[in-house]
Amino acid sequence: MNKELIADAFDILHQAQRILVTSHVRPDGDAIGSLLGLGLALQDNGKDVQMIMADGVPKSFRHLSGSEQVHRKPKGTFDAIVVVDCSDLGRVGSVLDDLPDPDLSIDHHITNLPFARVNLVDSDATSTTEMLTALLPALKLSLSKPIAEALLTGLITDTLGFRTTNMRPQALRAAADLMAFGIDLPVLYRKVLLSRSYHAARYWGRGLSNLQLENRIVWTSLTLDDRQAVDYPGRDDADLINVLSTIEDADVALIFVEQKDDTVKVSWRSRPGFDVAKVAFQFGGGGHKPAAGAELEGPLDEVQQKVLEATRAIMHP
Ligand code: 5GP
Ligand code: MN
Repeated sequence: MNKELIADAFDILHQAQRILVTSHVRPDGDAIGSLLGLGLALQDNGKDVQMIMADGVPKSFRHLSGSEQVHRKPKGTFDAIVVVDCSDLGRVGSVLDDLPDPDLSIDHHITNLPFARVNLVDSDATSTTEMLTALLPALKLSLSKPIAEALLTGLITDTLGFRTTNMRPQALRAAADLMAFGIDLPVLYRKVLLSRSYHAARYWGRGLSNLQLENRIVWTSLTLDDRQAVDYPGRDDADLINVLSTIEDADVALIFVEQKDDTVKVSWRSRPGFDVAKVAFQFGGGGHKPAAGAELEGPLDEVQQKVLEATRAIMHP
């Protein structure tokens, strides 16, 4: 990472007293892990930190220290505003509505739009938490066991347990360093990646029973009816997309999740050689070449049709 940018980030964080840290809506393990990792490290350094997430902390991450301090709305004013693991400002949700533009962004998405005054972006990093594992010491912020657990959570979830195609030695070294704080890796791995509710498994069943395959694209949808029928409390896909991405007959997997406000959440996964970030970006979303997402307006069938068409176009240009 660029030393001058790190020095700028150092100045922003160390000259501030009241600091807001936030991340994206529908937070995943990397968003929560980065928020808590940086937030707790700044608190240990004597800063007044507000950790804010528009959607709060999902149940599977509430065991992490500091998660009880995460609120949905900021209070008061700040000397510095930091956004982690977020490629565009819109994805922060309403958190920054009445606040100035962010001072610092720390992110690893290839589709990152440099929206902050200082942007630390490394699209080769597996996760923002991998970046922070190296960055915190460079920013003279020390790690502790709770910080290590938060950061390791993001590393595990964003790499699906160290198996995504962007894995690199730095990610395993970072994980080893974090584990050395006394973290039980298999226990954490199970909590944040493997364990799921009975309702989520039944929700998968609904999606899997409608699975379609055509020209090496596999896809399915999850409707509001599916959600209600199995009593699934979330508005996401319960990570079913990561099951679809294991199907060997396809190069690209897609899932369409119908939402209450006439929008559809779309997730893409692809094998090496296919860039789904490009197609997600066309629809106002973003992500990485092998894993991307977007939120589109319109009825499910229309969204499905236009997204499948655009996806075919990037596969067979
Ligand atoms: P997922 O499909 O699991 O929600 O996300 C896959 C990747 O795409 C993640 O890196 C996630 O941050 C990114 N992503 C998902 N949805 C959106 C979106 O609506 N906008 C942007 N910019 N990125 C997204
Ligand atoms: Mn991430």
